[in-house]
Amino acid sequence: MTEILVSEVGPRDGLQSIDRVMPLEAKKAWIAAEAAAGVKEIEVGSFVPPSLLPQMADTAELVAFARSIPGLNVVALVPNAKGAARAVEAGVHAMSIPFSMSETHSLRNVRKDHPAMLAEIAEVAQIAKAGGVHFAVGLSTAFGCTIEGAVSEEQVVRLAAAAAEAGAQEFSLSDTTGYADPAQVKRLIRKVRSAVGDKLTTLHLHNTRGLGLANALAGLEEGITTLDASLGGLGGCPYAPGASGNLVTEDLVLMLNSMGLKTGIDLAKLLEVRQILAEALPGEPLYGFTPDAGPMLDYNERLAR
Ligand code: ZN
Repeated sequence: MTEILVSEVGPRDGLQSIDRVMPLEAKKAWIAAEAAAGVKEIEVGSFVPPSLLPQMADTAELVAFARSIPGLNVVALVPNAKGAARAVEAGVHAMSIPFSMSETHSLRNVRKDHPAMLAEIAEVAQIAKAGGVHFAVGLSTAFGCTIEGAVSEEQVVRLAAAAAEAGAQEFSLSDTTGYADPAQVKRLIRKVRSAVGDKLTTLHLHNTRGLGLANALAGLEEGITTLDASLGGLGGCPYAPGASGNLVTEDLVLMLNSMGLKTGIDLAKLLEVRQILAEALPGEPLYGFTPDAGPMLDYNERLAR
């Protein structure tokens, strides 16, 4: 049976996209409950300056807490070498740096062009190596950019190869903007794999236009083994009002489990975790179909097949 890693990114990607700050205790309860439901990897936060993102100010405390949960792989996002040093000090198992494939987006967000980002990635790789921490690069805006529009696939391949050269151990293709379609997902996975081989393991998808699960399936058919998702699709998108955020963890787990893929996640327990979000962030939109409709009547029989 094929094992698929569902990596929960809500405490980072979801919470950083909304203005409200979730209390530390609620974040801890969320992380503990998802781990208890069988989630094996959680991106607990981001080591950005708290002045920029107050929602992420407690990331070091969350890392320490999450590390105390047996078997949980604790991941944090780092924007640069300074963040990487803080992440290593906090004790993460793995860290990932977003590398925007759109140079305009990169300049706008982190004020770095591609050569400057590659230099930063090389520095982070050194810090990761010295600290014994796994280091991944997220190829963000890989499927399109809200400023530039189309992003050249040849450019994505070239930059992925350069990042591998700079020391990236693993890659994800990130549909930061919700622009991806399934045919594009398949094509880009094949192309990037030709440059970095099986270091490409992960898809990071947003459900902005409702194509999240279709894109996930396209990725699975190309051998992707890790899928990022956010409980309740928390997050939204600042550029598309009313649009939902990440791929919804609940819907993804229903799909994978009922297809007979092995996630190790108990869907019933996962669905209960949503209550923690609803209570800690009253009025915040939570997305997903499975939470409303419930699993199919024969869901458990499907698992046994
Ligand atoms: Zn994202």
